[in-house]
Amino acid sequence: MKALEIRGLSVEIAGKPVLRELNLVVPKGEVHALMGPNGTGKSTLAKVLAGNADYKVTGGSVLLDGEPILGLPPHEIARKGLFLAFQYPMALPGVSIANFIRAALQARSRGTPFSATAYYQDLYKKMDLLQIDRSFTARSVNDGFSGGEKKRCEVLQMLMLEPSYAVLDETDSGLDIDALRIVAEGVNHLRSPERGFLVITHYQRLLNYIVPDVVHVIDGGKIVQSGDKSLALELESTGYQKPVAVS
Ligand code: ADP
Ligand code: MG
Repeated sequence: MKALEIRGLSVEIAGKPVLRELNLVVPKGEVHALMGPNGTGKSTLAKVLAGNADYKVTGGSVLLDGEPILGLPPHEIARKGLFLAFQYPMALPGVSIANFIRAALQARSRGTPFSATAYYQDLYKKMDLLQIDRSFTARSVNDGFSGGEKKRCEVLQMLMLEPSYAVLDETDSGLDIDALRIVAEGVNHLRSPERGFLVITHYQRLLNYIVPDVVHVIDGGKIVQSGDKSLALELESTGYQKPVAVS
């Protein structure tokens, strides 16, 4: 199946269960939103998908286009086409954005010759789309960046890597409305029948700009409700407090 398939995924942190037999399928070509209260396991899910070994998987499986990815190191998962935009991206002092993205592309291309001219042309085009200043490329990744700059930097990486599946963890947090629109445009630019997105957000606001095909609600480490985009609006007016039916 051409999809990101999460089947019965259970995950523990420090002996505490965080994800409990979570099921979620994002078919290629669709944008799914994952919403829910803080502390319910959204970021845990994102990090486990990307291969973070700090989390203990106690059950279930994750398939990317039918291939299991749990237990693979992060770079192998990235090579298979999954990209994660972090909620709290790490700073890499001394590593410029331009070199960082180029290294990621080179690592993925497994030594295929790489044109520096074409790379910079592509990079500048995508920076223009995200309204990122040219001087940005020489700065160290996330070092002293504002919240909004970090999020734009994450989306720039995604635009350059053109992954088959992208997981965006609260890419809206710390963005004002203009930056939010720009970032959403970046995501919408990549939307295609060849790509699937899992957009994690605590608020409905982002989904005005990135209109999802399906909305899922996570609570207590599992999906408690799924629906179309109107579910996000409903949650905005009722909050997460309302008891929800297990689907
Ligand atoms: P969300 O992204 O939905 O806000 P998280 O996945 O970040 O939630 O966290 C889920 C639960 O796991 C929370 O109770 C959080 O305190 C706990 N948790 C997350 N990461 C760690 C960690 N590295 N060490 C200990 N507990 C953690
Ligand atoms: Mg989170």
